[in-house]
Amino acid sequence: MRKKERAAIVIERLKEAYPDVECTLEYDDAWKLLVSVRLAAQCTDERVNVVVQGLYEKYPGIRELAAAEPEDIEAIVKPCGLGHSKARDISKAMRMLRDEYDCKVPDDFDELMKLPGIGRKSANLVMGDVFGKPAIVTDTHCIRLCNRIGLVDDEKDPKKVEMALWKIIPPEEGNDFCHRLVYHGREVCTARTTPYCDKCVLRDVCKEYPKLEKLKTQKAKRAQAAKTTAANKGKSAKQKKEKK
Ligand code: SF4
Repeated sequence: MRKKERAAIVIERLKEAYPDVECTLEYDDAWKLLVSVRLAAQCTDERVNVVVQGLYEKYPGIRELAAAEPEDIEAIVKPCGLGHSKARDISKAMRMLRDEYDCKVPDDFDELMKLPGIGRKSANLVMGDVFGKPAIVTDTHCIRLCNRIGLVDDEKDPKKVEMALWKIIPPEEGNDFCHRLVYHGREVCTARTTPYCDKCVLRDVCKEYPKLEKLKTQKAKRAQAAKTTAANKGKSAKQKKEKK
């Protein structure tokens, strides 16, 4: 099956499985998504959603946050980890928005990329979620799932995965497709456990599924063989005892 065909099926199946998707970072203004996405590096979205409440209570707008000392921002965002560099980036980005963009988040990918701490993944997220423009967000779930499903071939580099996906995903589908991959990656095609293929709606199109099934069968056979050996050992020990 060609990748484009596979992608079209995956898009439709995930749409059925997860009809309503949205960004798991909570925000009500574009600049807040920029802050949250920076804080989310190596931190859970749940924790970020809690931590930003305290931050916005103290600094309710771009101007207030831009005027804050990075150390004061750090004191609040510390629970998200990497507090020093995250606070420094947030401070610089807010100052740049204030000084160069009239306190408005630009709706242009290249301009977003100029903001400190904002990379391709974050810029795509803002383009898609805030401005409703085509976007491919290659986070860890997207990269893992696209490799397993077979939408990319053994490719771990986020930019290369993004470029490969642009070729096979219709632009208007990209943003929601990536959100759905996050849902699917958390609930079914998990990273830390063996994926729950039994529950997966993509089994018949997933490249990894036959391999995982084979491993599962081999494992079950080994377990059965070990059980039989143990039972036989027990039996012969019992027979020996009886003979005595
Ligand atoms: S079949 Fe298994 S490996 Fe493939 S996408 Fe589904 S859960 Fe992941």
